[in-house]
Amino acid sequence: MNRHLLLLAAFALLTSGQARAADAPVSTDVEKEKIRLIVKEVMREYVGSLNKSHSSGGAKDIVRSLVQDNKTFVRTHKPAYFSHFLDSQHPRATVVTCSDSRVHTHALDATPDGDLFMVRNIGNQIATAEGSVEYGVHHLHTPLLLIVGHVACGAIKAASGDYSKESPFIKRELDSIQIPKGDSGLSGVKTNVNNQVRHAVGKFEEEVTKGSLTVIGAVYDFKDEMRQGQGKLHIINVNGENDPRRIAALEIMQGLDAPDPHAVAAHAPRAPRPVAKPKPAAPVHEEPAEEAKPLKKSMIKLPEKPKDAGKDAHKADEPKVAGKKKAAAEDEEDPHAKPAKKAEKH
Ligand SMILES: [Zn+2]
Repeated sequence: MNRHLLLLAAFALLTSGQARAADAPVSTDVEKEKIRLIVKEVMREYVGSLNKSHSSGGAKDIVRSLVQDNKTFVRTHKPAYFSHFLDSQHPRATVVTCSDSRVHTHALDATPDGDLFMVRNIGNQIATAEGSVEYGVHHLHTPLLLIVGHVACGAIKAASGDYSKESPFIKRELDSIQIPKGDSGLSGVKTNVNNQVRHAVGKFEEEVTKGSLTVIGAVYDFKDEMRQGQGKLHIINVNGENDPRRIAALEIMQGLDAPDPHAVAAHAPRAPRPVAKPKPAAPVHEEPAEEAKPLKKSMIKLPEKPKDAGKDAHKADEPKVAGKKKAAAEDEEDPHAKPAKKAEKH
């Protein structure tokens, strides 16, 4: 319908409603609501007609780029790639992270496809996606729940300041980030991650207690604010434990880069613990733990996955990517960046 006709129709409906109200002063709420709905429908159609002629802006180019990328994906991924998750999914970890586009799944899993049950929202929260997190833990039975915050998080910055002018929906999602006002930086990010882990450990207490679930809190540092490598994933909390020395001593952390013992632990309120006894000096013949272990860099040793045959079937014939994606492709070629599970998949 011509947009001018639509506007005319909307105007006619509005004025007829007013005229009728004037003729019959007792205009019922039902009638008013009917008119409101009709006008709303006409306006929706009008906006739809606008989009047809206004779709040549940025969105058009983006859609073309996405469709082209998908075509390449279809062409370069053979049936073997899809075969292991065709009928069901068996992700190894439920991951709660921020919606921020700078937090990448391939930063912590070289082949995240079918591997990570991803839950994303602003501020990497359990509370605003509780059903999704429960689904990963209770229905997909992932033995690991990984909560990943990140440096320079906009949600943390907003939550630590005045967000009273945001929409009710955004306010609701910021309300559940419990950090001190003014704590907008890395410290606020860590506090939030610790809070989320505490929430998760309480929520899944039974699974954590019997050992079928481990909850890990981490911070993804794509700005190298912690001076331990740009893009490093720092584990700061394991099942509620956020003391770096205690975390380093945990069995699950053996063979991984230990958290910096000089890092400030705290921020998350937790039950007081007895002071840890110093570890006895290692016997002379033992190799230092760090040197003896195969896993390096930021990779978390995820639980082994039984069915990975054919998972890399597409890799050989993937074309070189260009532009901004090239850097990611180059990263994948870094032999030091490959996790242990990569080798299992061949
Ligand atoms: Zn964020």
